[in-house]
Amino acid sequence: MASERRYLLERVDDAAVAQVYADGFDELPLEQKILIWHLYKAALAGRDIYYDQRHALNLEIRNVVEEILTNAAGIDPGVLAEITRYTKLLWINSGPYNNLTARKFVLKCTREQFIAAAKRAEQNGATFGYACNAGVEVCLDRVMPMLFDPNVDPVVTNKTPGDGKDILQASANNFYVGVSMGDLDGFSERYPLNSRLLKNGDGLVEEVYRIGGKYDREIREIVTHLNAAIPYAPEPTAEALKALVRFYETGEEADRVAYDIAWVKDKDAPVDTINGFVEVYMDARGIKGAWESLVYYVNRHKTENIRTIAANAQWFEDHMPWDPAYRKQGVHGVTANAIDVVIECGESAPVTPVGINLPNDQAIREVHGSKSVSLSNVNEAYDKSTQPEFRREFAWTPEEAARAEKWSAVASELTTDLHEVIGHGSGKVAERLKGSPQNFLKEQYSALEEARADLIALYFIADPKLVELGIVPAEDHEAIVLAEFEGYTRNALVQLRRIREGTQIEEDHMRNRQMIVRWLMANSKAIEVRNRDEKTYYVMVDAQAFREGVGRLLGEVQRIKSEGEYEAAKVLFETYGVHFDAALRDEVVGRVERLNMPSYTGFVQPRLEAVYDANEAITDVTIGYPMDLMAQMLEYSGRLSAVSEPTRT
Ligand SMILES: [Zn+2]
Repeated sequence: MASERRYLLERVDDAAVAQVYADGFDELPLEQKILIWHLYKAALAGRDIYYDQRHALNLEIRNVVEEILTNAAGIDPGVLAEITRYTKLLWINSGPYNNLTARKFVLKCTREQFIAAAKRAEQNGATFGYACNAGVEVCLDRVMPMLFDPNVDPVVTNKTPGDGKDILQASANNFYVGVSMGDLDGFSERYPLNSRLLKNGDGLVEEVYRIGGKYDREIREIVTHLNAAIPYAPEPTAEALKALVRFYETGEEADRVAYDIAWVKDKDAPVDTINGFVEVYMDARGIKGAWESLVYYVNRHKTENIRTIAANAQWFEDHMPWDPAYRKQGVHGVTANAIDVVIECGESAPVTPVGINLPNDQAIREVHGSKSVSLSNVNEAYDKSTQPEFRREFAWTPEEAARAEKWSAVASELTTDLHEVIGHGSGKVAERLKGSPQNFLKEQYSALEEARADLIALYFIADPKLVELGIVPAEDHEAIVLAEFEGYTRNALVQLRRIREGTQIEEDHMRNRQMIVRWLMANSKAIEVRNRDEKTYYVMVDAQAFREGVGRLLGEVQRIKSEGEYEAAKVLFETYGVHFDAALRDEVVGRVERLNMPSYTGFVQPRLEAVYDANEAITDVTIGYPMDLMAQMLEYSGRLSAVSEPTRT
């Protein structure tokens, strides 16, 4: 049944829209469901904060287009279709800036057509702007340049604006008002993470995100729901939630630290949340936190696999295909939780990360550690929403494509676990490197280390030990291994689509994957390059030779790391990992473009509903899947009556 349900819902330009499912929710005990319900409400309560952080006019823009879409009777169908396209992209990207490129996208109809549509919507009952009575044109005046002029506020975050330009002035986000980098000389922020910085006649002012400060209304609502959640949370989770409430109340750094520590201490929480000003990518300075939220429960089955692998870390170390001199004693696998998200909002949705490791505060990480999660159901939705044509295009046989469809999600989850849990922590380096091989391997280090972790995963995924440990069913093992080896091989070709200019790979993960496949081509009989109908295929033809080759290369890579052999690392990557053939890339780009593949995916979240008894007590929480981006976004904006009563907490 799971394979028949819909994941891919629609395409909007180069974005895909997919549904994410949280299958385990129904089996959770009622207490956990109620806890999730309140955290879910808290997660949605901050949605507008992130919209406002992304651009000062973002909420106004969203209001205008949503008003038109919900009062659309009689609007020219062609114009309405264009406004719909634009609005869907705006929702997917939480504003008019593309998630991948940070660049603004605009409406492709004329201003006159748009005004006519707005007037029509107004006759149908739409209201624009905030308390605007001066007619549609005047109301829309403020947002028109954002909607139509690609040169107005063109980039949301611009870290390299060029020729002496200021990174804050060149970035269109709403973290700074009238501030340039020069203004910050000699100014130290008291609220670096959670404030907007404004320059006025008195100098710089920090508008703190907290109760009584900026975003007071949204934060008050978040806090109301967090407080409602606390009675249903186990003690350590309750402590963390209380600390979070305190931080939202005061906005003080010391309370943020106390919250981070309480959150990271709550290691065994079956239900957990992230809610606050967390990642700093949107700020060109890398200081200000964008608001985001996630609510999730531990996927016990998948987490068990991770724990089993971690518990056997020493066995893997003892069986590494490298010089025994580089084997470590007393290894512990890194544990992470596999989780299923129930809701994501703010910066983490609709486009979502697939793994999270927090807190970001390095000082807390060193003393208290960190929590690491992989978003299982998001990974699943990514995989299942991939169009089958994509795999078929690069698979040599229909069997290979079918195997990928059936097993690639399982295989890649397992390789990721092995990579993270066993890969990075393994091996020993020579004494004279003093524990810092990166000082010797310099710019080659990251790609080499990623190659090492990938090779370990590829090597052990084919090991019968995984069956013995109960991680992989014996009857499926061979198919899973084939799917992984074939997919890894194809990727070296397919990934070239990402580099549209030049003939060099810069990104470390891409370099390492290219290096491994090209090395195997040159040094084993595992992979053949074939041609059919003027198309190139990388075909994995011998799984045994593949594993044997991986073992040999791993021995070599480990020696390079353990001995800090910079020259050898450089030669390895220069020969196999960095350079590629432009004609081959052009061929791959052409094939991908003919298939009209999406560049990124936005996810429709599950939807919860609480069931109340006559005394207003929650007796159950049900989960549903809207399967419709527009319906969900309009519900979140409070425009659909389907929203659960907002007065309840
Ligand atoms: Zn890695």
